[in-house]
Amino acid sequence: MDEGKVIYFDNNATTMVAPEVFEAMKPFLTNLYGNPSSIHRFGGQVAAHVEAARESLASLLGAAPTELIFTSCGTESDSAAIFSALLNCPKRNKVVTTKVEHPAVLSLGKELERRGYRVSLIPVDGKGRLDMERASEMIDDETAIVSVMWANNETGNLYPVSELAELAHRNGALFHTDAVQAVGKIPMKLSEMNIDFLSLSGHKLHAPKGVGALYVKRGVRFRPFIVGGHQESGRRAGTENVASIVGLGKAAELARLHIGDEQTRVRAMRDKLEQTVLATIPSVRVNGDPANRLPNTSNISFEYIEGESILMLLDMFQICASSGSACTTGSLEPSHVLRAMGTPYTAAHGAIRFSLSRYNTMEEVDFVLEKLPPVIARLREISPYWK
Ligand code: PLP
Repeated sequence: MDEGKVIYFDNNATTMVAPEVFEAMKPFLTNLYGNPSSIHRFGGQVAAHVEAARESLASLLGAAPTELIFTSCGTESDSAAIFSALLNCPKRNKVVTTKVEHPAVLSLGKELERRGYRVSLIPVDGKGRLDMERASEMIDDETAIVSVMWANNETGNLYPVSELAELAHRNGALFHTDAVQAVGKIPMKLSEMNIDFLSLSGHKLHAPKGVGALYVKRGVRFRPFIVGGHQESGRRAGTENVASIVGLGKAAELARLHIGDEQTRVRAMRDKLEQTVLATIPSVRVNGDPANRLPNTSNISFEYIEGESILMLLDMFQICASSGSACTTGSLEPSHVLRAMGTPYTAAHGAIRFSLSRYNTMEEVDFVLEKLPPVIARLREISPYWK
């Protein structure tokens, strides 16, 4: 392994900008700086690239370009979808979501409660699978929108979005999915699905930070979240982040080319990492549902030690992983996802999320497998809970 090389197994937190993406963006940060809304040809040329990016993203999602609105991030897309539904259905004041959502949705739920809305959270079982019986009890004729993530950022668990959309529609509610972790990792064809809104974020699929998109199914009424100019057909005001939008378009094109890789090579690396850890290190457990997960994510609890200490020692070998989601790092509270799953205290504290990408190699997996067991053994030696 090259000295100084970072082994980046934290791709659910953010991803490397693909070199092709960076190249595609460069002209829009230098000579092609026109405003896509300008009448002159210089602006029009830039607008054409924004539209090409929209087409590229649409073909990754199996959607129509007109169904996509560029935003600043996944969080904005989530808020835009949920507020739109609430504004369009003033007679319904309930939002149904889950206990394992990202804070982009959960914190919004808390804010909505402060504003007088009712928010119901669907519970999960020990593997993080949704309680569908509770879901069908919670979704009723007072529900304006059901928002359930497609893939969980901490465990990688996949959720039955079509079934949930069906439940929502049967009760006259709209359905939104936060697909920030799913887009580019699993194939999707939205034209054949019943999802009304879908959020995605550029920086999780090798585009830069600060760009995202919201899919709004044709025919679904949309009320803009950011109001001002006429950009994005009046659906999201503000001069477009052109370079990043072009980058997202390129990243979508690459994701389309490599989606098979996620299912084969990335999955094989993840499986080797996980299976070897399970076979060689005592008192470990996989968090989540191994039968129904993203191919790149493995969340493993090393019982009786602290995840933060493991991360610090791995960091000495330039190995990057995460304990819980990046947004909860820094707090010693076990992650809300693992708590919702009822993960025992001794296991929740020692949970590490490894999340791979197509830029990782088997050599890196082997390097982690060489360094990890002595790190765990060393921490257990000094742990008061390990005997
Ligand atoms: N939703 C999920 C599932 C995520 O994992 C993240 C980021 O970690 C977000 C939303 C927020 O996305 P962004 O950072 O683009 O706002």
